[in-house]
Amino acid sequence: MYCYLCENEYVGFRNTWCPECRKIKNLMNVYGRDRILTILETCCLRNPEQLENKIMKQKKKEESDSQTDESYMKPSDYKKKLRATAN
Ligand SMILES: [Zn+2]
Repeated sequence: MYCYLCENEYVGFRNTWCPECRKIKNLMNVYGRDRILTILETCCLRNPEQLENKIMKQKKKEESDSQTDESYMKPSDYKKKLRATAN
């Protein structure tokens, strides 16, 4: 059978929803369709402006990562160095 929501094939006889989509349906039963839709739209979907912001943030992060101080050591590496010099 094919799930009515995700349209994936699944093993089942009388259900119109696969087990995963049944969970989504149950959430809609609890919180309401509009609330679930709002959550999906606000958390999962990005408008073009939000996408641009995300891209800019990533670019800035990559720029700052490439300009790291070479003397910086991760705390775990620093501890190893301390142990090595103590011996
Ligand atoms: Zn499904």
